[in-house]
Formats: sequence, structure tokens, C-alpha cells
Amino acid sequence: MSEFVLETEKLEKIYRLGGRSIRALSDVSLKVKRGDFVSIMGPSGSGKTTLLNILGCLDRPTSGKVILDGVDITSVPEKELYKIRRYKVGFVFQTFNLLPYLSALENVELPMEGTGKSKEEMRKRARELLRLVGLAERENHKPLRLSAGEQQRVAIARALANDPSIILADEPTGNLDAKTKYEIIRLLGKLNIEQGTTIVMVTHDSAMASHARRVLFLSDGKLLSKEKIGLLAKEKLACPVCGREVQADHVFCPHCGRKL
Ligand code: ADP
Ligand code: MG
Repeated sequence: MSEFVLETEKLEKIYRLGGRSIRALSDVSLKVKRGDFVSIMGPSGSGKTTLLNILGCLDRPTSGKVILDGVDITSVPEKELYKIRRYKVGFVFQTFNLLPYLSALENVELPMEGTGKSKEEMRKRARELLRLVGLAERENHKPLRLSAGEQQRVAIARALANDPSIILADEPTGNLDAKTKYEIIRLLGKLNIEQGTTIVMVTHDSAMASHARRVLFLSDGKLLSKEKIGLLAKEKLACPVCGREVQADHVFCPHCGRKL
């Protein structure tokens, strides 16, 4: 198995609108290792959503390749793409996109429908995931009875339902207040550190982008050659309680749960 979960080669996307063409991406080549947490930062209109939609098979590039888990998804026929969307990628959106008439638990179960899991297995997995995102007590609440941050936690649990190779998050903190933003970005960091979840997040928010392991920059549809090391990859310390490795910016040890 390749160390890269995701590779793109010279991606280009041109939208044609009436007689006009808009070049949304040009020459985007990137590689994402298994277990990485990459944020791609760029201003509004720089092509972030276009890129993420292509990585997640919601859209096709005009030219170039996307290799996901060793499969060139740009050459997969349309009718097969649903399998990749369902099993290989988990999407997290700015607006959560939960179904309002389903409970938190049912929203998390939804992507597992039709995958061959029994009702009991689906329920068990959904409960585990809600526990993982800190919402075990809220499983029967409908989205409207949850805060914005809680709704995004449910959406993150839903994205993990079919154990995807990668989580793709489009401005996941864009609709949240300052405090809740940090809770959600820390949750993504925790999933990356503790579960090894590979994450690609796009955002215009530099403070949020800096919480990843690597920060890339998109400008006018092009990836810049500069790259920054994110907070998640910086300084590591030993937990004074259990001795295991923790990030310098952690408040609680992810292993033993003690306050640092
Ligand atoms: P971002 O997510 O960084 O704000 P987008 O990927 O949404 O950027 O958009 C990149 C560029 O492509 C913008 O100029 C936008 O207007 C254009 N664009 C995005 N989607 C479409 C579309 N479906 N049809 C035409 N132009 C589009
Ligand atoms: Mg966007």
C-alpha cells in the first residue's frame, strides 16, 4: 500500500458559463500521506470548494488525475463513483447538512444504510461514533435541538461512519462562534492523533488552518510552493501523568485524560 492516501497530478478545472470560461484550478499537484492532517488555506473564490469536490468525487476535473487509495478516480465510470463517495471519503460541510427530521443517531446511521450492516451493527457503530465526538448524551436529539457545534460533531461522526480513507472538510468552522471553532478544530486534531484519521480541510481562516500538521496555500486556483508546519506537528512533550507523547498545546492528555 502506498504511503499516500491521496495524490493529485496537474488538476485543472474550467467552468463554462454561457460563453465564458472560468479557470477555477490550474496545475494542482499534491500528495497526502496516510495519517496526515493537511489544511489548504485560501481566500474566497480561490478554488477551495472546487478542489475538495473533485477530491471527493462530487465533481470531475477538466484534466489531471486524482489517485485515492491507489485508484485513479478520474477514470472511474460515473455509475461506480457512489462506492468511492460512500466508502472512501467522509465529507464535513460548513453548514453541517444534517437531515432535520432524523435524530443525531439516525443521521450517523444513514451512510451505513445499504452497506450490508445489520440494524444492530449500525446502531452500535453510530453510538460509538457519537461517544467519540463527545455526544453520547445527545443521541436522540434532532439537529434543531442541538447547538451549532454539536451539529458539526454529529456531522463529523457521520463522516466517519463507513471508516473512510480520508475526511474532507470544507470550512468546517465557518458557521461557528470563536469558542466553538476551537472545540471543533481540536476534535479534528484529536481524531487525527488518536484514531489516525487522515484529514484534508480547506478554509479561509488562517487561525484554524494553523491547527493542522501541514498548511498549504491556494491562490487563484494555484497551489503556492510555500508550505508551513502546523501546530499539530510541532513540539511534542511527555505527559507528566502517564508519560506518553502529547502535543505541547494540549490541555488534556489524549491518552490518560488528565489535565496538563
Ligand atoms: P472557494 O471555495 O475558495 O471560495 P470556489 O471553488 O467555490 O472557491 O470557486 C472558485 C472559482 O470558481 C470562483 O471564481 C467561482 O466563482 C467559480 N465557480 C465555482 N463553482 C462554479 C460553478 N458551478 N460554475 C461556474 N463557476 C464556478
Ligand atoms: Mg468554498
